[in-house]
Amino acid sequence: MEVEENNVLYNSVLDDNFKEVCPEKVIKFKPPLYKQRYQFVKDLVDRHEPKKVADMGCGDTKLLRLLKVYPCIQLLVGVDINEEKLQSNGHYLSPYLGEFVKPRDLDLTVTLYHGSVVERDSRLLGFDLITCIELIEHLDSDDLARFPEVVFGYLSPGMIVISTPNLEFNPLFPTMTLRDADHKFEWSRMEFQTWASQVAHRYNYHVEFTGVGAPPAGAEHVGYCTQIGVFRRNSGKAAELCVSEQHDQHVYKVVYTTTYPSLQQERVLKFVLVGELLVQVEHLRLRQQRMLREEKGARGPQPQAPPLLLGAVFTEAEQARIESSPKPFCEGDKFCIPLRRLLAYPKLHRLRLDEDRMRRLIADSVCLSRDGSAVVVDLHSAWDRWPEEN
Ligand code: SAM
Repeated sequence: MEVEENNVLYNSVLDDNFKEVCPEKVIKFKPPLYKQRYQFVKDLVDRHEPKKVADMGCGDTKLLRLLKVYPCIQLLVGVDINEEKLQSNGHYLSPYLGEFVKPRDLDLTVTLYHGSVVERDSRLLGFDLITCIELIEHLDSDDLARFPEVVFGYLSPGMIVISTPNLEFNPLFPTMTLRDADHKFEWSRMEFQTWASQVAHRYNYHVEFTGVGAPPAGAEHVGYCTQIGVFRRNSGKAAELCVSEQHDQHVYKVVYTTTYPSLQQERVLKFVLVGELLVQVEHLRLRQQRMLREEKGARGPQPQAPPLLLGAVFTEAEQARIESSPKPFCEGDKFCIPLRRLLAYPKLHRLRLDEDRMRRLIADSVCLSRDGSAVVVDLHSAWDRWPEEN
């Protein structure tokens, strides 16, 4: 079977599960269906900027890896019943070297728990977003009955996203009953929407339905391959059955946890601040030398300034902020740059520090003027001395 999507013919596979059922001649989505599901969640995160996000049935943690880069997210949790999957994929969630060099603004903790979505664990209370991507169809009837009471009633997050296969799409595939051997059921749009609407009504949410994996031309009546319900908690009192007073129920086992470096951590802030400050000071020192040479009409070989220091382009607002701050000045062969001047430059300004805090953080790393208001350096260092000055 070939399906034309966006004027491109595909005759490959749907996703990994499906590949096993029928390795040839099945629909291929572009991007692959699982990526469309993840993109759907990413778009929601972009729009709603949740701080605490949990992915139930997180599997091999692929979605979590995509979500960890969002600056708004400060707590990211994955839960899965398969401990081995969590064990072998946890390391993908640890910070990269670059995340130490250019740390996030806000803290981020990532934790993987081994446990079932139908168990209550109070560490998942108070989340802004809980995602259940291709999870519910893996629950047997007892667990499916318990699922709303735990996720909607007990955890009661601001938003819940549930995706599940749309049974009506299945006839477009070669002979198959369910899309995965572990699926306990697959629902038509009517079945999913009836279940979801009842759950939403019972737990004080409203729900909107959509999907990913558009059907091919001529088969629009079957709907999306993956159907999705986005539930938003209604304002006012949380769900009637909510028992969020129970704050000490720790039934999940922590399999992996990591904390990201961020500018909220003093030692990280200090590291970044001192690094940016030294670059800015050196830039200003070299510029001051050039200005003095030009004043003297000096000629001769120019010392090579590190190229990275050149060519900073400021917006008008940045330029105005810099120009309204106290100017650097020379005292003999010492070059003094007021802290307020340094704080006006964008890379230091973004650290949102006041002068006192900056002074405390840099005091043991740079030389300060007697009153502590400026960084003081030698105007000339051995490596950049002019031949005639030697
Ligand atoms: N959400 C992931 C994704 O979209 O890539 C994985 C989906 S996979 C089809 C279903 C996942 O749900 C599996 O990793 C499975 O171990 C997990 N799972 C099944 N029953 C569960 C339960 N009761 N509680 C938590 N996770 C469960």
